Amino acid sequence: MAAIPTPEVAGTERQRARVTTIVFFIIGLSVILSYEWGAPTPSFRNDAPSIIFFAILVAAIVYIASRVSTLGLHRPRSCTSCGRRIPFDALFCPYCGYQFPR
Ligand SMILES: [Zn+2]
Repeated sequence: MAAIPTPEVAGTERQRARVTTIVFFIIGLSVILSYEWGAPTPSFRNDAPSIIFFAILVAAIVYIASRVSTLGLHRPRSCTSCGRRIPFDALFCPYCGYQFPR
């Protein structure tokens, strides 16, 4: 029997994709902000590395915070068959297809 992902797992994947988009948006924005568009010869500002470093730091915090909140909300348990993390209310394991006794 093929393992079918539960809606909970699909939702977590969607949220992860959204967080990845936000992370890339923050880093991209920092690159745009660190560029001197108004100057006669547009070039990166002197403090560009520190702006980009700060953006990566913020992006990392957003990423870690989203991971922590996901763990807190879904309260994952482990599959008794394969040991992988599965949704709290899963009726069967999305990875190995093991059916849990009700
Ligand atoms: Zn399993």
